[in-house]
Amino acid sequence: MSNSRSYKTLCVHGGKFNDSLSHGSVTPIFPATSHAYLDMEKITYPRYYNTPNQEVLAAKIAALEHGEAGLVFASGMAAISTTLLALLRQGDHAVVQTKLYGGTTTFINNCFNEFGISFTTTSSLEIEDFKACLQEKTRLIFIETPSNPLLQITDIAAVAKLAAKRGIITVIDNTFASPVNQNPLDLGIDIVVHSATKYLGGHSDICAGAVISNKDFISKILHRGKNLGGSLNAQTCSLLERSIKTLALRMEQHNRNAQAIAEFLDKHANVQKVYYPGLPSHDGYELAKKQMRGFSGMLSFELIPSINPVIMQKKLKLINPSMSLGGVESTICSPTLTSHSTLTPQARAEQGISDNLLRLSVGVEETEDLIHDLKQALEN
Ligand SMILES: *Cc1c(COP(=O)(O)O)cnc(C)c1O
Repeated sequence: MSNSRSYKTLCVHGGKFNDSLSHGSVTPIFPATSHAYLDMEKITYPRYYNTPNQEVLAAKIAALEHGEAGLVFASGMAAISTTLLALLRQGDHAVVQTKLYGGTTTFINNCFNEFGISFTTTSSLEIEDFKACLQEKTRLIFIETPSNPLLQITDIAAVAKLAAKRGIITVIDNTFASPVNQNPLDLGIDIVVHSATKYLGGHSDICAGAVISNKDFISKILHRGKNLGGSLNAQTCSLLERSIKTLALRMEQHNRNAQAIAEFLDKHANVQKVYYPGLPSHDGYELAKKQMRGFSGMLSFELIPSINPVIMQKKLKLINPSMSLGGVESTICSPTLTSHSTLTPQARAEQGISDNLLRLSVGVEETEDLIHDLKQALEN
């Protein structure tokens, strides 16, 4: 499928399977783990990432991210850990944002030192600060934008340019934006990773991950992926392929709803501050406008000190206080009590995460119903 087609078309038609047996319009499920080997060009096996369901799904996601090739994994963390362990070796140095998904930070903190990989973190997202972290042995830079939970924006093209000049590999976690809103490969990034558990799956019932890049990097990641074994089963591939067909429709409604809710909360007397890249008051607004097609469905807001965030969440009737994000249903959580609970209060404060901060994953419900629910919970 040509990459010049719109994301709307690629969601539906990208990575199409040609069913010469039943001539049906969807990819059949191929659950086999045993395949013929005599006179075969390749050995098919789920852990080799080469079954029809895995290949068709990877091709669809690769088309959406404008990449040459892709791989699908059993979780976002399988995609991230396999990618990093494929590209870094003993003696290498990496530069990573402080503001990363918690699981990624924990993986880096737990494993890099043990494996002899050194790393420097930058809490500032200014390009000069990334530059200041570079060392002679720097082999890879890992970024995530918009970041969790304050939706801060990293300048993707500037990081890609800084790295390319020095032959450094760049990896981005594009989960929060989704390929509908942001295509980092077009901005010079080498490798895109996704937790497909979030927007790509979109219905809070799939755990999966993906990596997209050129053929060369994908072949290296595949090699390590066979060792680590984090491949995705056929049934979940099929569910995820089906989900992605409506990704463009869902993202457009996520974008619209989040913008309207951000504007509503921004004006509300019981809300101290709203973090959403689609608001002109947001630090990253200009940059987000430059590198994103839409601002996505994630936003955070700080309640005024006199409102208890737990009580406010319990008053919500439609929006569900619930972990994770990116589903069709709106969910809300307190970063202090969930994703960032293992940090010290001081570390949270340094990252700008107050106890009165709430993170909202805006779903695809009717905008007015969501605003009404927030209004009654804020004012009761
Ligand atoms: C959830 C998430 C991950 C990890 O994905 P899993 O599918 O839970 O392994 C990685 N990055 C971001 C930004 C996420 O939100």
